[in-house]
Amino acid sequence: MKLSSLGEFGLIDSIRKMTAQQSPSVLIGIGDDAAALKLSSSSLLLATTDMLLEGVHFNLSYTDFYSLGWKSAAVNLSDIAAMGGVPRFCLISLGIPSSVSVEQVKDFYRGFRAVLRAHRTVLVGGDTCSSRKGFVINIVVLGESEKAKLVTRAGAKAGDRIFVTGTLGDSAAGLDLLRAATGRKRQEAWRRKLIQKHLRPVPRVAWGRIIAIAKCAHAMIDISDGLSSDLAHICDESGVGARIIAEDIPFSRSLLAASDKLGKSPLYYALSGGEDYELLFAAPPAKAKKLRSFDITVTEIGVITGERRLLLSCEGKTKPFRPTGYNHFKKSGG
Ligand code: ADP
Ligand code: MG
Repeated sequence: MKLSSLGEFGLIDSIRKMTAQQSPSVLIGIGDDAAALKLSSSSLLLATTDMLLEGVHFNLSYTDFYSLGWKSAAVNLSDIAAMGGVPRFCLISLGIPSSVSVEQVKDFYRGFRAVLRAHRTVLVGGDTCSSRKGFVINIVVLGESEKAKLVTRAGAKAGDRIFVTGTLGDSAAGLDLLRAATGRKRQEAWRRKLIQKHLRPVPRVAWGRIIAIAKCAHAMIDISDGLSSDLAHICDESGVGARIIAEDIPFSRSLLAASDKLGKSPLYYALSGGEDYELLFAAPPAKAKKLRSFDITVTEIGVITGERRLLLSCEGKTKPFRPTGYNHFKKSGG
């Protein structure tokens, strides 16, 4: 069977079934943003890993090494944020082609360190290899959480309100702008902001922690693949469905300014774009007021339903929709 017929998530699912093993120490294994492993009756070790490959995740013709280091750290910390955890330690392995200089590697580490410092995470090791083709990055982040505060992708209940932090779609629009860049020297502010969101995302570690400590989320995920796909992950793991209201999805002014020029709608970028690294979570209705009292940017965008399908309400019409976010092995969506 071809990988393209199974897709990234189908493949992970079959790996998960093949390797399923019960261990009393594994609270959460394959299938969430991070594994949650029991250290004691009340405390958990969180572990997550993500790869970034040249030509797949980044292009060195429009990504500087500082930003690459920054983003590599940010996307991994984001998975700890999605569990409501605290990142603590990190390991990094690099495959470096001969075309990359020592100065560029140092720049990478400067960006990497800036994000780790901001989140009090300590680099404790890694591995270094030469690469025949392309720059390869693999990172492991270890974090911690109290067992009682952990938030997983499972647990959303019919009637829960769906919230997102920040604004959606900026990163994917920033990527389109980078791809279409014509080498212009002076850039409008909206262009710079969207590109910045793509190259240097900010992991919502503190916000994830606030949401978890206040027990405001039944389920949570970070948006790495696009709202449609990441919402589908929460629904699959929780055994529920969802209805999203298009007009309620938060867009930045920069994205609204860009979409005319790029010919794609903000809604398209939010649903299918990915790499926003905002948090998407299902909150019991009684917690909605409490959530709004925190110093965090959250917007209610829909409701969890008992029927296992995804619905999108737009201009008064409600239609089913499918996950169309990023999927390795598939050309688009699914
Ligand atoms: P995220 O986008 O949050 O990083 P992924 O979609 O990459 O999540 O991974 C989902 C789950 O599948 C995680 O638990 C991850 O550890 C696991 N996973 C991904 N690839 C593999 C693999 N090749 N073998 C085992 N587990 C995997
Ligand atoms: Mg994730």
